[in-house]
Amino acid sequence: MAAAPSEFDAVVGLGSNLGDSRAILAGGVRKLGSLGRITAVSSAYETDPIGPAQPIFLNGAVRLLTRKEPLELLRGLLEIERAAGRVRRERWGPRTLDLDLLWIDGLSLALPGLTVPHRELAARAFALLPLVEVAPTAADPGSGQLYTTLLPAVSAQGVRRLDERLDFGLSSSI
Ligand code: AMP
Repeated sequence: MAAAPSEFDAVVGLGSNLGDSRAILAGGVRKLGSLGRITAVSSAYETDPIGPAQPIFLNGAVRLLTRKEPLELLRGLLEIERAAGRVRRERWGPRTLDLDLLWIDGLSLALPGLTVPHRELAARAFALLPLVEVAPTAADPGSGQLYTTLLPAVSAQGVRRLDERLDFGLSSSI
């Protein structure tokens, strides 16, 4: 049996549409640095909400080299969400900070409470666009298909890349 890798190359998706989203996302990016070494931060994207009427989302992604096992990494993400004051409400509803473990290089997981790649990664431009920005050669671990090749099939309507990085040059805390 192959040894488990000592480091995982992972991409985390971030989103916010409640509160001061820029400061919250900048704080989220900074806090992800406590879970591993950040190797890339995407642009910020403005995304029209789906579901109930609510404010526009800001989204993006961070690439991380981490020694944490996937479930430990997920626990770390949930803690950062909680610290940002996320209150779980309706599905598709507004959120202060949403963190999704989008992809881990070479890993397919279907555990209770954790599916990697994220179930909706391949269908959502607001996750796929920042993912390919920080990991241009990322591929689906099952099929080997590069995520860049999926982009033409995914509607990017309502998703706008901003000329700013997801940390907005801020160092504020959440
Ligand atoms: P949501 O509020 O829609 O973002 O869902 C969060 C829940 O989805 C978490 O409590 C996780 O247990 C579960 N989950 C399953 N797979 C993932 C993933 N890849 N990244 C983040 N959360 C996940």
